[in-house]
Amino acid sequence: MARVHRIAVIAGDGIGPDVTREAQQVAEMAVEADSAVLEWSDFPWGTDHYFAQGTMAPPDFLETLAPFEAILLGAVGHPKVQDHVTLNGLLLPIRRRFDQYICLRPSYLYEGVASPLAGKLPGSIDLLVFRENTEGEYVDVGGRVYRGFPEETALQTAVFTRRGCERIIRAAFEVAQSRPRRRVSSITKSNAQGYGMVLWDECFARVAAEYPAISTESLLIDRAVMEFVRRPESFDVVVASNLFGDILTDLGAIVVGSMGLAASGNIDPTRRGPSMFEPVHGSAPDIVGKGIANPLAAILSAAMMLDHLQLPRGAEAIRRAVAATLRAGRVRTPDLGGTSSTREVGAAVLAELSSSIRR
Ligand code: ATP
Repeated sequence: MARVHRIAVIAGDGIGPDVTREAQQVAEMAVEADSAVLEWSDFPWGTDHYFAQGTMAPPDFLETLAPFEAILLGAVGHPKVQDHVTLNGLLLPIRRRFDQYICLRPSYLYEGVASPLAGKLPGSIDLLVFRENTEGEYVDVGGRVYRGFPEETALQTAVFTRRGCERIIRAAFEVAQSRPRRRVSSITKSNAQGYGMVLWDECFARVAAEYPAISTESLLIDRAVMEFVRRPESFDVVVASNLFGDILTDLGAIVVGSMGLAASGNIDPTRRGPSMFEPVHGSAPDIVGKGIANPLAAILSAAMMLDHLQLPRGAEAIRRAVAATLRAGRVRTPDLGGTSSTREVGAAVLAELSSSIRR
């Protein structure tokens, strides 16, 4: 009998619902390869909920999500709502409550996609960023005094713990072991952040010593952004703090062609609670309602979800179908230089998928 996996869907705002719809259809077909079934539950949370009720989600939203195996998220955000409200009202509580301490974000240069960098061959850029996802600069600790006065002052605290640093660094090394190049790069700014990021560097050195077969480098963030452009091929597994990982992965996404291809997973590898899968991009207010959002980032995020659900054939089938669609190049959205719609790209991936898994 087919195994049923229960998935919470937060399609969210802007282009979120459009790209999530395509991802769901593709995932549904792909899991046939593993004789599994996905059972979706939709939660209409996001900025519409905020406009109606003053919060991004009902007060008990974390308890509601707890029993699910995974969460598939589209995007949250609205030009009229400050980003810190949408982040702190929904995404960050989910990442923290379910201890999704790994934010995994791959960047791969597919055949048929042009990098904005000259002369890059398909597959030559193939990097995996492990972004720390529960602490660092995103802890929402701080305060403001003298609001509205000239003396107005804000304090923003970053939190680095030995446990938090070591576990994300160890996760990066574990995965690097199974990749051909076996290399881990750690990115900090420990010359200027002499407490938290020096602790990070010490943790990196300690964990690296447990993996002598893996080569390492430590770069400051300013150098790393330069090298992401100058020699992106040299990066294999990259591990960075919450803020630096976020910035580096937008750069990684554009270096391999488009924000519309960048997938991510917020993962608790211990599986105590649901992990969450979402495209790196946001609600893309500039293209909302036009039906031209690239659904491939959401579709590739669904593939990462299937990996997490231990449905490897389906996950691999999705990646092959996406690669084939991009290679053929007939159907692509405007961010990749084409004229196709979100739905047409979704349909092209489904067609590739159906010919590979229903042969
Ligand atoms: P948010 O505040 O929700 O993060 P944003 O506008 O700051 O929104 P993104 O939504 O990530 O950030 O959009 C950045 C740019 O990339 C925009 O020009 C957007 O149109 C483009 N973009 C993002 N996602 C896609 C996509 N799936 N397909 C095509 N273009 C996209």
